[in-house]
Amino acid sequence: MYQSFIGLEVHIHLLTATKVFCGCRSAFGDEPNSNVCPVCMGYPGVLPTLNLEAMRMGCMVAKALNCSIPERTWFERKQYFYPDMTKNYQISQFASPLGQNGSLELEGRGANGERINKKVRIKECHLEEDAGKMIHTGTVSLLDYNRAGVSLLEIVTEPDMETGEEAEFFIQQLRRMVRYLGVCDGNMEEGSLRADANVSINLPGRGLGKKVEIKNLNSSRFVRLGLNYEIRRQAEVLDAGKAVVQETRLWNENRDETVPMRQKENAQDYRYFPEPDLPVFCPDKAFLGSVEDAIVELPAARLKRFVAEYTLAEEQADLICEEKAQADYFEAAVKAATGTAAAKTGTGTAKKALSKTDAADRIAKWFLTDIKHILHRDGLSGLDAFALSPARLASISVMQAEGRLSGKLAKQTLELVVAENRDPEAIVRERNWEQITDPAPIAEAARQVIAEEKATVSELAKLDGNNEKRRKTLFAYLVGKVLSATGGRADPKIAGEQVKALLEN
Ligand code: ADP
Ligand code: ZN
Ligand code: MG
Repeated sequence: MYQSFIGLEVHIHLLTATKVFCGCRSAFGDEPNSNVCPVCMGYPGVLPTLNLEAMRMGCMVAKALNCSIPERTWFERKQYFYPDMTKNYQISQFASPLGQNGSLELEGRGANGERINKKVRIKECHLEEDAGKMIHTGTVSLLDYNRAGVSLLEIVTEPDMETGEEAEFFIQQLRRMVRYLGVCDGNMEEGSLRADANVSINLPGRGLGKKVEIKNLNSSRFVRLGLNYEIRRQAEVLDAGKAVVQETRLWNENRDETVPMRQKENAQDYRYFPEPDLPVFCPDKAFLGSVEDAIVELPAARLKRFVAEYTLAEEQADLICEEKAQADYFEAAVKAATGTAAAKTGTGTAKKALSKTDAADRIAKWFLTDIKHILHRDGLSGLDAFALSPARLASISVMQAEGRLSGKLAKQTLELVVAENRDPEAIVRERNWEQITDPAPIAEAARQVIAEEKATVSELAKLDGNNEKRRKTLFAYLVGKVLSATGGRADPKIAGEQVKALLEN
């Protein structure tokens, strides 16, 4: 058996309106080569200027990853020739990146269901410009430079992971984090988040092996598959008494294997030297304060808090915390149902406050079943304009908890709130859906049912103690009849009591 070492280099596009060193628009999907200027194309004599927003977002991620931000951070030129880079160098960071020596705590379940508990050290975070995009079509390659100069933050880990599952989990957690921070949309298909995965294996106790880099993985699943494939492949190479070649490989998603791409260049090949056209950046108090202020409660901490504060199951909390907007929605609904926020829904107000855990339980269930289903069915991307506001959901939950609304009608109310964009109280009142808890009308309905269902009643009377199952079936049938006789509005418990009382007479 070998020991394996995995280090990731994750690139994220920062959500700055403009590129990192010029004023060009930074957007995905625009007309090719429409967002370019002499600066991002590197014409002679032009001067780059640092986009402060990019620096601020980069530092937010660095801080969230427990990195320290140096007193002086600057940029270097990384020189290489490639057609996607007209300048022949990339402005990047080398000697003093904006974030250094951090860590990310991984805690949860990997794709294979196994528990993951690992601290991954973050070597650095550095800010750089992205290159353009090459589109290869048959014998011709097309170039789109819209992406050239877009703010890119690279996050480099130490080789602390051991399995494809851990690396996949790292990417998922990091993606969640940067989306919470609002600094990256995390869209891997569009290339807003890309990963290069480095992996080596060695005999236990021998330290790092010869590393192979798998480049440009655009899904976290490919990161897992590529790494696990590569660990197996390297083991076969070593088992055969050969040496692993240090190289860059690509993941072929159609053949489920990695294939060689090139032998890797060394840092000295790039001839890094300080970018002469950009001053050293010294973050001052105000800048660092604005970074701190912009950092929200991070997803891993929020998940833990949801489990502790609301006694949610870890899986539930995980699903809700997947997106910040969902977690915010959940907490707003719980707050409204517990009465700590004004539960005003226009015409109605939630009457009685629920306990926090009862409210959380009800709202989590609604959210993870019906609401997720509706959002998906109606193709709704956000919760901002969702007709079922947190207050309206709270109102339905409270009515149900108070026994004023049956489960079935609560579900229908929820659908109608979405379809009609109206308050649940109004819908319930107008349709006369409030649950009947007054025993008199329920008793009346029960009397009628028993008078009509003679066969059932006489069969029940003849059953002896050995027929408990049949007795239950017939009893449930009669209660069901009472419920339908009241349009589904009778409190099922009271209906049961009334039927029982009548049968015993
Ligand atoms: P390079 O100079 O080739 O870019 P770095 O030292 O910058 O290499 O590391 C790049 C990434 O590769 C980091 O995530 C690091 O953790 C990882 N890495 C470095 N050496 C190894 C190794 N021997 N095995 C596995 N991963 C490694
Ligand atoms: Zn430009
Ligand atoms: Mg490197």
